[in-house]
Amino acid sequence: MQVLHMNKGNGDTSYAKNSTVQSKIISVGKPIMKEAVLEMLCNNVIESMGIADLGCSSGPNSLSVISEIMDTVEAANRLLGRRLVSEFRVFLNDLYSNDFNNIFMSLPAFYDRLKEEKGLELESCFILGAPGSFYGRLFPTNSLHFVHSSSSLHWLSQVPAGLESNALKRLNKGKLYISKSSPQSVVDAYLLQFRNDFSLFIKSRSRELVAGGRMVLSFMGRSSTDPTTENSCYQWELLAQAIMSLAR
Ligand code: SAH
Repeated sequence: MQVLHMNKGNGDTSYAKNSTVQSKIISVGKPIMKEAVLEMLCNNVIESMGIADLGCSSGPNSLSVISEIMDTVEAANRLLGRRLVSEFRVFLNDLYSNDFNNIFMSLPAFYDRLKEEKGLELESCFILGAPGSFYGRLFPTNSLHFVHSSSSLHWLSQVPAGLESNALKRLNKGKLYISKSSPQSVVDAYLLQFRNDFSLFIKSRSRELVAGGRMVLSFMGRSSTDPTTENSCYQWELLAQAIMSLAR
């Protein structure tokens, strides 16, 4: 958790310049996000709307999500002919070593666009960085109305117990993840780790979200119960092969 981060900056190999797949995932989820925001607005009178993007990384994706949420609120304002939300408190979360500066540097242009396109004043929109792990508490009790997280929850908090590189028994020799050659104990170790992490995530958010708040999470899944099929996580199989051949 102290060291993980996507490639910093704006260079050719940066996350900012190599995240179109994740941007596409966000686009696919937009109708679901809109629906969730509208449902949340129906049930609540909100003076200061708390929004969090968990695992925001660097680059343009996170602010595009925030902009979309604000658009949805604006559209609801217009529809009902009154202001449903007076101000936005936006928290951008990622691990400590994330390149937050990359996003912060794009804020002046973002604020300009909010003013030009949505007529929003600086005093009604507060965007803050919230470094730390989403596998645990990040925000005060009952402080959020809407939580978003995309392409982030597949990151576990640690290598599952028993599979560390210094483990006595090499249970998953030559592999990076669940693979056809992995014993059942490897599958179980990943399952247990995900279950523990995800439970902690849900427990933490349940304290932070107000009653009637909403959460939209998008992350990797698979249509087959077999975790080793080609359309599951085959990219890790290929990566393991490449690394093993490099080592040889
Ligand atoms: N949501 C962005 C970024 C996805 S990349 C987008 O859709 O483009 C995944 C991000 O999750 C990375 O920046 C990584 O640092 C972050 N992440 C992984 N584990 C995390 C944790 N435990 N807490 C907070 N952020 C985490």
